Amino acid sequence: MRVFKFGGASVRDAESVRNVARIIERFKNDQLIVVVSAMGKTTNKLESLVNAHFAGQATEAILEDLRKCHGDIARDLFEDASKVVDDINNTLVEVEWALDDPDGLDRHFQYDQIVSIGEMLSTKIISAYLTSEGLANEWVDARDLIRTDNNYQDAKIEWDETRTMSSERIGKAFEKADIVITQGFIGGTSENFTTTLGREGSDFTAAILAHCANAKDVTIWKDVPGVLNADPKYYDNTVLIPEMSFFDAMELAYFGTSVIHPKTIKPLQNANIPLYVRSFVNPDAQGTVVSNKEGLKIPPSFIVKPDQVLISLTPKDYSFVTEAHFTEIYSVLSDIRMKANCAQNSALHFSFSTNNDEVKLKELQKRLEAEYFIELVENAELVTIRYYDDETIARTTKGKEVLLDHRTATSAQLVVK
Ligand code: ASP
Ligand code: MG
Repeated sequence: MRVFKFGGASVRDAESVRNVARIIERFKNDQLIVVVSAMGKTTNKLESLVNAHFAGQATEAILEDLRKCHGDIARDLFEDASKVVDDINNTLVEVEWALDDPDGLDRHFQYDQIVSIGEMLSTKIISAYLTSEGLANEWVDARDLIRTDNNYQDAKIEWDETRTMSSERIGKAFEKADIVITQGFIGGTSENFTTTLGREGSDFTAAILAHCANAKDVTIWKDVPGVLNADPKYYDNTVLIPEMSFFDAMELAYFGTSVIHPKTIKPLQNANIPLYVRSFVNPDAQGTVVSNKEGLKIPPSFIVKPDQVLISLTPKDYSFVTEAHFTEIYSVLSDIRMKANCAQNSALHFSFSTNNDEVKLKELQKRLEAEYFIELVENAELVTIRYYDDETIARTTKGKEVLLDHRTATSAQLVVK
């Protein structure tokens, strides 16, 4: 049994959905668990809907846009789309219900109830399309497979329950068909509320299900040929890495390689399940395989995080930055779900780089301004170089101001502007 994951870009329009079906068709002799993300930019749209709702702004236009986008894809795919379109509209009614819930509900909770709908929509459309193409499949609700705690927006997996639930439910589904379609990114609590696993969490879902089912391998189908040593958006002359170790993959993912979600590697490494990253545009190409094989070497690799804010905190009483400060600062970061992508301290400063998120930055200021001087530098860029050397450092810093420089033996992290 194999696990496939198709991300938002691979199902962004009707033609992409047809392509996904053609890829699945190639594997019709295998049993497949197919994990699917929300279509195209749906998750971003749902996020903006949640933001609008909590800002007291209108949400109808966003909802209408989602109805139309998904409806258009269905009308393109099916001769008679009425059943699927009804299903889409009924699913979107759940967003309206969530918006109608009493004010004062936790924002993270509401986010998960609403944003998870994107994956519900995509999997319903794709399952129906595969059926119409003669690819018998079972649509399975991921909330019946993946049990999490109630840390909404970044829920933690409860592995024992997930193992039991997923093997039971998937086992039943495979009695009926060789293809199981389910949603990435979402899980459920013991009280049956929906949770999400963090943005881009669908890869993680694929890894969890593979781990629990002891799959032969996992394939993430992407719009790139595999894992490259840099993002072609920022670098020329990138090279494909045909084979790499879980260890390097984990480091690259941790630093923000967008190709593999950081949480994805561990469950696969632990169960010794190889991970393939392959192109849905060119499914004949080999792509990258990540495995436990020993002695694999990779070239210097670059990870760029744009739109960073460098935050510098200085205790107002000019006391040295100590463990007590770290504890305080990190507990605030964890509360407001702000991630320090790279951090460094000196006697009087604690500096870190984070994604530019206006809401979270305001919250941070509110929580820490009584005790710290807070300095922000916006429009910075965080470049991580794994297996750096003088040449790659020089190339990265050329013509730029270096705001933070943090190195270990194998990786350099530079915040530059
Ligand atoms: N749809 C979710 C997101 O865009 C999860 C995923 O795509 O992996 O973050
Ligand atoms: Mg995605």
